[in-house]
Amino acid sequence: MSDPRAYVEVDLTAIASNIAHFKSDTDAEILAVVKADAYGHGLVEVSRTALASGATWLGTALLEEALLLRDAGITAPVLAWLTPPGEDFDMALQRNIDLSISSLALLDEVLAAGARTGIKPRIHIEVDTGMTRGGFLEEWDPFLLRLREVKNDLHVVGYWTHFARADEPDSDFTEQQLILFNVLLNALQSEGVFPEIVHAANSAGAIAHPRSHKQMIRLGIAMYGLSPDISTMGSSEKLGLRPAMSIKAKLVNVKRVPALSRVGYGGTGVTDTDTQLGIVCMGYSDGLPRRADSTAGVSYNGDLARLIGRVSMDQCVVDLGADSTARAGDYVTVIGEDGFSADDWASAAGTINYEITTRIATRLPRIYHR
Ligand SMILES: *Cc1c(COP(=O)(O)O)cnc(C)c1O
Repeated sequence: MSDPRAYVEVDLTAIASNIAHFKSDTDAEILAVVKADAYGHGLVEVSRTALASGATWLGTALLEEALLLRDAGITAPVLAWLTPPGEDFDMALQRNIDLSISSLALLDEVLAAGARTGIKPRIHIEVDTGMTRGGFLEEWDPFLLRLREVKNDLHVVGYWTHFARADEPDSDFTEQQLILFNVLLNALQSEGVFPEIVHAANSAGAIAHPRSHKQMIRLGIAMYGLSPDISTMGSSEKLGLRPAMSIKAKLVNVKRVPALSRVGYGGTGVTDTDTQLGIVCMGYSDGLPRRADSTAGVSYNGDLARLIGRVSMDQCVVDLGADSTARAGDYVTVIGEDGFSADDWASAAGTINYEITTRIATRLPRIYHR
């Protein structure tokens, strides 16, 4: 087989080490968040590694992602928390997927699936304590009334919420969310419903709010070795995390151009000296942000080469410098330890590292290091 023109390297030992880092710091169970193809790192490989490294649960947004885990033969508990009405809940129960319940409509559909299949649904009750997105809010009281009637038809495994601002160390918003979370839990327990696993913390909560750990933490971005927010919480390095993803792409061509050459669509990039340009075989259809500016780029043998001009669909251009020894066919590092990070790409494009890794296209092969 020929060399890929661009590929993603996933260091599974980094994922194992990031999980170990949290494991040594908490008594809570760890749910590895593997939605969006494990933040672009590869659903099944990351899930297997996480489970082998101390995580006991897997969490997905979509039911289809949870079913892919079962298709791969993974038998660990899996929670899918984003299931609009009309999903195949019979299938979810048959494949032993835990479901999040966040509305009366969803509760009714899941109960109906339970009745049809004869399988008691395993549910996690989601409450909205301040995110104002998922979870019970104004339907909470009617939900408690309804639960009185149907609680024997359900296995209430979990009770959970999601933080909106856990990455802001100076805000007491997370504490307020936790207070309401406890109040609503008391109401649930007064109905004789005692969830086994209470969970709230995302990565930022796990790092900055030890009191939020409860029985389980839901680790996403930090498991992949990235900081929830470098401006408020510091870099990966500062947090003791190892980024798992790196990306390599081939140079299609290297060409010498004079100073003041205009590069790319719109001629927005201009060379300031005589130089060599590298044409990199990766573009916005591969997930590089089109609006990234020249504070991002690639590295070749550790030398940084910045983006020049707009990122195109399948390629981008970098300024290698007049003395570079890079040649057509050589690989450059697009994201990696010896070059620019996902955080560098994020700041160059006005976004967050989450969006960088999750948008790296699946047409790039993933190569795993164990
Ligand atoms: C994505 C997600 C997480 C993980 O968040 P990170 O900030 O990546 O740790 C946790 N819980 C829920 C419900 C999520 O959707």
